[in-house]
Amino acid sequence: MSFDDGNVALLSGSVYFLVHRGVICRQSTYFSNLLSTVRPCSAGDLIDGRPALELEECSEDIALLLRAMYDGISSVLGGEDVFHVGYILLQLAHKYKIKRLQPEALDVLSEAWPSKLSHWDHRMKLVPATHSDDVRNRALPHPTAIINLARLASAPTLLPAAFYDLSRQPPSVSAAGFSDIEAGAFHRLSPADLVSLFQGRESASRFLSTFIVQVLEVRVPGSTCAAPQSCAQVFEHMAQEVVCDVGGVMCDPLRVMARILALPASDGEGPAMLMLCASCAEGLEEDVQGGREMLWDSLPSWFGVEDIMSWGA
Ligand SMILES: [Zn+2]
Repeated sequence: MSFDDGNVALLSGSVYFLVHRGVICRQSTYFSNLLSTVRPCSAGDLIDGRPALELEECSEDIALLLRAMYDGISSVLGGEDVFHVGYILLQLAHKYKIKRLQPEALDVLSEAWPSKLSHWDHRMKLVPATHSDDVRNRALPHPTAIINLARLASAPTLLPAAFYDLSRQPPSVSAAGFSDIEAGAFHRLSPADLVSLFQGRESASRFLSTFIVQVLEVRVPGSTCAAPQSCAQVFEHMAQEVVCDVGGVMCDPLRVMARILALPASDGEGPAMLMLCASCAEGLEEDVQGGREMLWDSLPSWFGVEDIMSWGA
């Protein structure tokens, strides 16, 4: 992304981009302020006869930014690395004060760290949880980096889902921070955010334990149940199964709750849900959905995130 008729050079390492002062200054108050102080007559600051600005970022990131500024953000979102692109652009849009690009980059990241449960479920289908004890997934920037960027760029709507995302890994792993070898960056939460993470994780796991007791362990078939004895046995079996599920490495209450509806029957033939009478199955499904929504609605307060305009629903 370099133009022969460009009248400003942006320098990144040994690479430079000739761009149009009018285009970048109109979008970025940072460049606008900086270029108003550049003296084009000082020969040392000239590249190809144009005033030059040296930037800290690698040339790939600057090329990305310029394409988004010239051709719109949709021109750089075609690949599988869409969330990494959104991350880089929000970072740069914040740093270089590019007003139009900030909300657009935030929208991209909001698809992976959304404010609605249905969107989170959709994201989990597209990007399944990893099997290891680390939530690192190549398709997504690390949630630790997202939390830090959300703080920096004042984008609190990303925080509850990013905290929840991160809370799925063991606390010791989160506390150690995350080293992004490719980008040469190390990400670690601030002490205050680490406390919020652990408190939120604790609240979510307490909610799950209570939910399992109330919705499965002490459940009695309702008055409209067609087969009270058999349904009671199925509930008991489900309670045992789900407790085994919770014992896994990943602590993901939303996933554990959703899995209740897919638990296998005691004879291993199909899902346990199908062994319940229609009335009990319907009641359980409602309770599971209601419980998951209640958990999701609680995320901002559990993780200590305030000033969010709209959450859930
Ligand atoms: Zn029943």
